[in-house]
Amino acid sequence: MSIPDLTEESEFASGALYKRVALLGVGLINGSLAWGILRHGLADEVVGYSRSQGSVDRALELGFISEGSTDAAEIVKDADLVVIGTPVGASGEMAALIAANLKPGSTLTDVGSVKSAVVRDVGPHVPEGVHFIPGHPVAGTENSGPDAGFAELFEDHWCILTPPPGTDQTAVDRLAALWQRLNSKVEFMDAKHHDLVLAVTSHLPHLIAYNIVGTANDMEEVTRSEVIKYAGGGFHDFTRIAASDPTMWRDVFLNNKEAVLEMLGRFSEDLTALQRAIRWGDGDILFDLFTRTRKIRREVVAAGQAEVPKPPED
Ligand code: NAP
Repeated sequence: MSIPDLTEESEFASGALYKRVALLGVGLINGSLAWGILRHGLADEVVGYSRSQGSVDRALELGFISEGSTDAAEIVKDADLVVIGTPVGASGEMAALIAANLKPGSTLTDVGSVKSAVVRDVGPHVPEGVHFIPGHPVAGTENSGPDAGFAELFEDHWCILTPPPGTDQTAVDRLAALWQRLNSKVEFMDAKHHDLVLAVTSHLPHLIAYNIVGTANDMEEVTRSEVIKYAGGGFHDFTRIAASDPTMWRDVFLNNKEAVLEMLGRFSEDLTALQRAIRWGDGDILFDLFTRTRKIRREVVAAGQAEVPKPPED
């Protein structure tokens, strides 16, 4: 699939792309999507569902949806675009609830961090004539809920779309244009490949962070107050990642089991090699690895994929 050309002649280059967008979930990601859609005039109206009345009320109060409900089937009626933005483990259930009310010709997408499980769980519920285009904006923060969203979240970040073979090209182009006009960079991928790439770039780092913060917390020889006091030595970067939403991440690991376990196997082998190098005083192994990893960090920074701390002002 090719990335749509958004030059002035393109029908998707300006104006609203959808009349009515229905968001299922009004947390960090769908809230940010709503703010972006409103800021860039990408839809005539944005409406939303949340599981709790409290989140519906808060989204309405903040003003990023104009209509809200705790009834998902009701809110998707007449929507041209429906976006599932609940934890991955709830995607299938959401699809089953709304299927009968999806408008023919509309697009159903999602923002879940795992793609094969979403295709497996949502796919069977999608009625004939509805375009199902799974997606994953690779952007986020450790905050959750309606208050966490902001319009700039997706800017300069990738959004990976995984349309199954044979998906309607115009529907794909329109959705890709939506992400592009939020200043995201769009990439197409097969769902399985997405899950493998994200297992190593996102899921494994989160698991390591959860584990290391847990280990530090469980240690008896070092007190909890010392861990917090001396966190500046590198530990604080892990605590930020380990503060990520527990429900979301539980669902990521349960739904990307195969790829995460494969990466974890590789990781454990490499860790054992480092353990041996330390035990036998093999500094060359350590130095070579640290030199390679430093180069990778520089490449990540050069690709604009890392926030670089500014030097202190004098
Ligand atoms: P969030 O801020 O926690 O919001 C989740 C929303 O889903 C809320 O409206 C919540 O409703 C609703 N919800 C929670 N559990 C539900 C259930 N069992 N059934 C129905 N609705 C439920 O979450 P988020 O960070 O926006 O994440 C949403 C999706 O985006 C996830 O699939 C995640 O994998 C993906 N994603 C997240 C990030 C990230 O960094 N956070 C990045 C990229 C993609 P209530 O508030 O009413 O309970």
